[in-house]
Amino acid sequence: MTRTIRAAVFDIDGTLALMNKKAGTFTALPGAVDALAACEAAGIAVIAYTNGTFFPPAHYYPLLADAGIRIAPGHLLTPAAIAAEALARQGYARIMVMGGDGTRVPVRDAGIEIVEPTPDAGPVDAVLLGYTRDFGATELEAVVQAVWDGARPFAGSVAPYFASSNGRMLGISGAIAAALENATDQKVTVFGKPEVAGLDTVTALTGAAPAEMAVIGDDPKLEIRMGRRAGALTVGVTTGIADEALFMSFPADERAHMVLSSLEQLADLPWLTEPA
Ligand SMILES: [Mg+2]
Repeated sequence: MTRTIRAAVFDIDGTLALMNKKAGTFTALPGAVDALAACEAAGIAVIAYTNGTFFPPAHYYPLLADAGIRIAPGHLLTPAAIAAEALARQGYARIMVMGGDGTRVPVRDAGIEIVEPTPDAGPVDAVLLGYTRDFGATELEAVVQAVWDGARPFAGSVAPYFASSNGRMLGISGAIAAALENATDQKVTVFGKPEVAGLDTVTALTGAAPAEMAVIGDDPKLEIRMGRRAGALTVGVTTGIADEALFMSFPADERAHMVLSSLEQLADLPWLTEPA
């Protein structure tokens, strides 16, 4: 396969690093630091894209830098950051946000006015759901009313649950999205993996088309599915949630193009070592 790769899109958890959930710190996985250096040496833009919506992007840069993983400003993406960038690009100026700082900060940084989910909020063009524990029936009713009144519903992620040190943790925005769809019959548009919207943001940042991207991740249902849908080169790593057998169990056209036991093997790949 001959391809020119101009951008490498790395998942964070289980791919570049592992998070110590108690301390909130990251440890680089084997080969991660060298893989990023190899990309840089080859003139390939590096993007770190996590599917988490708990924190705004700025939260991650210093924690990853402490683990030796340096990501260029603006090149760390979360579903909420992708949502904010996409909605701003689509001309949304006022959005009702039901979510915590992980969602609110990127929306505000994108220059979008945040409307609180209150009974007297008035008309809005869109509602955006993100992770929050700080809501009740009043907020839920306000979001539903906004959609009844014509607002388009969006969510960063609708994952049913997340892995945490305490086991499964409920995906709140997925639960709210299900409630919203139940009440309004409107489909909630999702920005996070495995939807391909994040790769549009990568194109906006780097100029690379999806076919010129390598998507590297530990989850066949998230990174690999997203990359395959978009026509990117997909690279699975077995340092996270899936082993090689799980990666290989997918149908050929949905399977990772290659599976590595760690990022230590990435620097040896032809698209990184041979000039385009
Ligand atoms: Mg992962």
